[in-house]
Amino acid sequence: MPFQKIIPVQFKQIIGQQFIKEKLINMAKTGRISHTQLFAGPEGSGNLALALAYAQYVNCAAATDEDSCGQCPSCIKFQKLIHPDLHFTVPTISPYKQTKEILVEWREALIQNPYINDFQWLQTIDNNANKQGNITAEECRDIINRLGLTSYEAKFKTQIIWLPEYLHLSGNILLKLLEEPPEGTLIILVANNTEKVIATILSRAQTIKIPKLTDDEIAEALVKYQNCMPQKAADIARLSDGDYNLAISLTAMEQDGYFGSYSAWMRFCFSGKVGELQKWVDEMAGSGREYVKNFLGYSTQMIRAAFLIKYGDQSLVRVNEEEKQFLMKFSGFLDGRNLPEILKSLDEAVVAVERNANLKILFLNLSLYIGRQLKKAQQAKV
Ligand SMILES: [Zn+2]
Repeated sequence: MPFQKIIPVQFKQIIGQQFIKEKLINMAKTGRISHTQLFAGPEGSGNLALALAYAQYVNCAAATDEDSCGQCPSCIKFQKLIHPDLHFTVPTISPYKQTKEILVEWREALIQNPYINDFQWLQTIDNNANKQGNITAEECRDIINRLGLTSYEAKFKTQIIWLPEYLHLSGNILLKLLEEPPEGTLIILVANNTEKVIATILSRAQTIKIPKLTDDEIAEALVKYQNCMPQKAADIARLSDGDYNLAISLTAMEQDGYFGSYSAWMRFCFSGKVGELQKWVDEMAGSGREYVKNFLGYSTQMIRAAFLIKYGDQSLVRVNEEEKQFLMKFSGFLDGRNLPEILKSLDEAVVAVERNANLKILFLNLSLYIGRQLKKAQQAKV
């Protein structure tokens, strides 16, 4: 979710998992908070995001029956991942031995994508990561030390151990702590594959099983948060098999493809170089009707985003950095007159594609029309 410097971890911001959310809230409300819990769910299910939302909820000063408030001092610090009583342990690779050495990178990676997997994370700290990730004995001793200190301000000093699969023999150092954490401590282990977690650890935690997301939940989230067209979102959701992290990657790959085509198209429209434009049109027309329809949808989103960048609230713009850079320049070619005309022509093109219009003729006419509209705004300036 670009341009968001806080992590969206109120329950309502987390995709799907309604049953689990209610269960967690109920546990907190009735005071049945087990001090060592294991959130077990497959990759991309949101188990890490749920652990954060739960920790934020139990520490919130004004929690309701549905959610944390998102606004009290505790919530604000949780959302920025800077609460002094929120501790993380994540896998590292040498030369790093402890999470505190790479905490800045971890916060950034987590804020970017609360559905991140271990491969992506280890790549972040070492991009030729063929080394094995690890949660070291040093880190385990560090956990015991920091949880032994009294908490600064939280109701529950919270330790999240992301991927206890990476605790090997060193995990035994933690057994006593997991069995009897200090007063006012909440330890949440977040695992993808419990078969790989050592049995002595498993037996000391209360397990909460988190199911994979449904196709509908993923598709809806892709439309809402990733600027994806509904039909494409449904296709990607089916491919992702409940893994929202995978769905995000697939969507980004799609959109990269569209962006290259789109930025080239707008340049050719404006420059009016017919040879280059003709080549582009031939290629687009050969991509198939479904692709063309999605591409036109993407183009509409880009024009709208350019409008917002120019006249509106930039925080509403949901594009990636590369797209934003392009759109900031491109918005100079748009004004209040040509913008609605271009949007209308794109809408009409979608209808024509659905009605089996000849794609080459359609795109050639559309390109010449958009080219004229873009030049109008330039002339109006002079
Ligand atoms: Zn709050």
